[in-house]
Amino acid sequence: MGHLRGKAALVTGGSRGIGRGIAERLGRDGALVAVHYGSNEAAAEETAAAIAGAGGRAFTVGAELGVPGDVDTLTAGLEAGLRAHGEAALDILVHNAGLNLMGRPIEVLTPEEFDRMVAVNIKAPFFLTQRLLPRLRDGGRIINISSVSTRLASAHGIGYPLTKGALEVFSHTLAKHLGPRDITVNSVAVGFTRTDMTAEVLADPAHLERTIGLTALGRIGRVPDIADAVAFLASDDARWITGTRIDVTGGAGL
Ligand code: NDP
Repeated sequence: MGHLRGKAALVTGGSRGIGRGIAERLGRDGALVAVHYGSNEAAAEETAAAIAGAGGRAFTVGAELGVPGDVDTLTAGLEAGLRAHGEAALDILVHNAGLNLMGRPIEVLTPEEFDRMVAVNIKAPFFLTQRLLPRLRDGGRIINISSVSTRLASAHGIGYPLTKGALEVFSHTLAKHLGPRDITVNSVAVGFTRTDMTAEVLADPAHLERTIGLTALGRIGRVPDIADAVAFLASDDARWITGTRIDVTGGAGL
């Protein structure tokens, strides 16, 4: 394809799961991809190697999100990686890294756990966006990875959906603000997808069956289902779409 040739993308949480799928797809589409990770450097290197193996360009950036100095660390790594590849600006920013403390209903969720999810799922994308806005080229893309749990009550607790709801509000509010720069901002609401995050709950056959039963298309999501939707939003085909939430759930709860 190669329609993203000449563009640079950052995918937070690109080391594993959905983020890895997005990073690989944007790499195949021709973008130089910054593959961010929190602690799993080896997985991020694997993603970058897979992109290079497919003829693309990528580098890794490590920074734990949700801790003091996270944005400084990430930005320094990003700038160094871009420089090493002869780039200075960013075109596509995908906020994918996320934390879901499952099985924590309101009766048991602690203030500390609540704060951790807020820090990783809201505060980090907010302040990373703030920092990178001057580096984001006009005509760029911001894509926020949200969740089906912002419209369907989650069996796993209330803290995580609250944070993703905030991310969706961030998306459409920012879309209006950045419209004059021709930057689009959208959120992708992901349904149950097989990754490390969901491995434990999907290992329970009853839960798996219930989850599949919720979808119109009759299966659990696969990483490329999500990555392809993100690639569409990143492409020029989606130039007139901003401030919206794309439901990528196989029709969950219809
Ligand atoms: P995984 O748990 O499989 O991967 C999480 C990724 O985020 C990893 O790359 C991890 O880095 C990174 N990450 C997590 N916490 C931090 C942190 N504190 N600092 C830096 N990096 C961090 O998640 P998924 O791929 O399943 O989820 C990706 C996104 O999709 C998330 O935003 C999630 O909320 C959302 N989502 C997922 C659904 C699903 O069914 N899987 C459903 C709905 C939404 P490292 O490898 O270094 O640990």
